[in-house]
Amino acid sequence: MSRLQDKVCIITGAASGIGRGTAELFAEHGAALVLVDRNEPGLNEVCALLSGQGAPVVGVCGDVSQAATIQRAVATALERFGRIDVVFNNAGIMPHGDLMAVSEETWDEVMAVNVKAMFLMCQAVIPHMLKQGRGSIINTSSVMATLTEPGYDAYTTSKAAIIGLTKSIAVTYAEQNVRCNCICPGWVDTPLNRALAEEMGGVDKLYPIIKKQQPSGRMASTREIGYVVLFLASDEASAVTGSVVYADGGCSASI
Ligand code: NAP
Repeated sequence: MSRLQDKVCIITGAASGIGRGTAELFAEHGAALVLVDRNEPGLNEVCALLSGQGAPVVGVCGDVSQAATIQRAVATALERFGRIDVVFNNAGIMPHGDLMAVSEETWDEVMAVNVKAMFLMCQAVIPHMLKQGRGSIINTSSVMATLTEPGYDAYTTSKAAIIGLTKSIAVTYAEQNVRCNCICPGWVDTPLNRALAEEMGGVDKLYPIIKKQQPSGRMASTREIGYVVLFLASDEASAVTGSVVYADGGCSASI
């Protein structure tokens, strides 16, 4: 049960959804955790829950698109736990809006949170991983990086950029044993989608769309996505780098 025993892992967007589900799973598997999020109450709640279960965990509250937050997260990991083995770059936002309606400000925000934050984190942690002679970075992209619908121009562009960043880092550091992969979830049961359901007038409106797009006919749970991240984070995935791993209930295989 201890696939990450004593590994020091930074997870962003850990107060909610996929990040939180993955943090819970990593804790079960023996990881020491630095959890990063801008949602302070949510972050405090997950930190209290996991430390109550005996996990070594510390929270860093802040906006991941700001270099200062990333520097604090990295410094906290090094001060508290002495190393950084795994980074799960997962925080993201998905505002809806047609291309003509998206403001420059929203476009910049999506790129900053979804892409620039990953660049900042990778730039900050890779020197430490190189010194240690190993490291694993997992970035959250989306099935919408390659399959999309109108109204998500900024989101789709940002998620496609994450695939490029992932591959670029992977080929640069493969020989030095620093791996970088990304996951592409389909529909996942998180507050992000519950908010979307509410906007659409209830979950009943959303489910026919999910059934049509995702052959599994249901949303994945955050734990199911967490298991994919756990594999990529663990030494079991030592031959895996530069991969784009779909966890989408068959969505990307479907016509
Ligand atoms: P979620 O439940 O909204 O969780 C995301 C967390 O990240 C929230 O706590 C959020 O805080 C935080 N966050 C957002 N922007 C931040 C920032 N600038 N700095 C620090 N924290 C920030 O979303 P989720 O569904 O788990 O999504 C996680 C990732 O998976 C995202 O990258 C998303 O694009 C991706 N994804 C999700 C799905 C899906 O079906 N859910 C599918 C494919 C990909 P706030 O609550 O304050 O925003």
